[in-house]
Amino acid sequence: ATDVTARRELADRREQVLHDQQQQNRRLRELDRLKDELVALVSHELRNPLATIRGYTEMLLDDAGLTGDHRHLASVIDKHSAHMQGLVDDLLDTAQIDAGQLKLELRPLSLIRLVADSVDARRADATAKQITIDVDVARHLPAHADPVRLRQVLDNLVSNAVKYTPQGGTVTITGRHDDTTATTTLRVTDTGIGIPAEQRPHLFDRFFRASNAVSQGIKGTGLGLAISKAIIDAHHGTLSAEPAGPDGGTTFTVTVPSCPPPEP
Ligand code: ADP
Repeated sequence: ATDVTARRELADRREQVLHDQQQQNRRLRELDRLKDELVALVSHELRNPLATIRGYTEMLLDDAGLTGDHRHLASVIDKHSAHMQGLVDDLLDTAQIDAGQLKLELRPLSLIRLVADSVDARRADATAKQITIDVDVARHLPAHADPVRLRQVLDNLVSNAVKYTPQGGTVTITGRHDDTTATTTLRVTDTGIGIPAEQRPHLFDRFFRASNAVSQGIKGTGLGLAISKAIIDAHHGTLSAEPAGPDGGTTFTVTVPSCPPPEP
């Protein structure tokens, strides 16, 4: 009889533990949902005031009468508010991805312009570090993609390449179309600091920052590549990274479809 009682007690206790665990899981899920909501709400609310600050700062900087210290102060506000805007946009994207609301507006496009614009946007940063940007893309570079989102991915890869490459390095962008697979591949290669092999599996994790980037004091949030990966996944494409060669550096490879997906 004691045997039976002991067994029943054990079963009861197991039941209780299981019940507690389920309750705990529900609570964690609820907290996770609240966190997502808070991030979405806060970033949304920050968006308009930031846009106003940036707009007015640009107006100040456009005024040739603004000189000396005042011009310097306005340019500091401009730089910092631009940085904040980038952060808020990344947080909003992250919230959208979590909510499964990353909407793509797919259409046929040529990537030639997109690459050129993305490179132009980084010219000043590259020149400041005496980095050469070489563009070697085919004349025919079709894609079936969302131009705004694809530009965002390219901007992220090109700006990382410049950011993580020391003075005097080179960034090379190549683009090829493959007829047989109906895909277009872009490669962004740099002669930069590289990514330590054992950390590479985490490269596309949210908030991941490689130890060499942190120890060299290069600023970042670790959101860009996670967002880029989600964008490319949504295109049914691929995004990967590998060492550029024995002398270091990194190559990022993006492949996207060049024609619409087949009708289901
Ligand atoms: P961020 O640059 O803001 O930190 P990303 O998500 O774009 O965020 O990149 C995540 C991390 O991956 C970076 O912090 C850096 O450690 C590493 N990384 C990205 N691109 C490169 C690159 N071209 N060369 C070396 N490391 C890179």
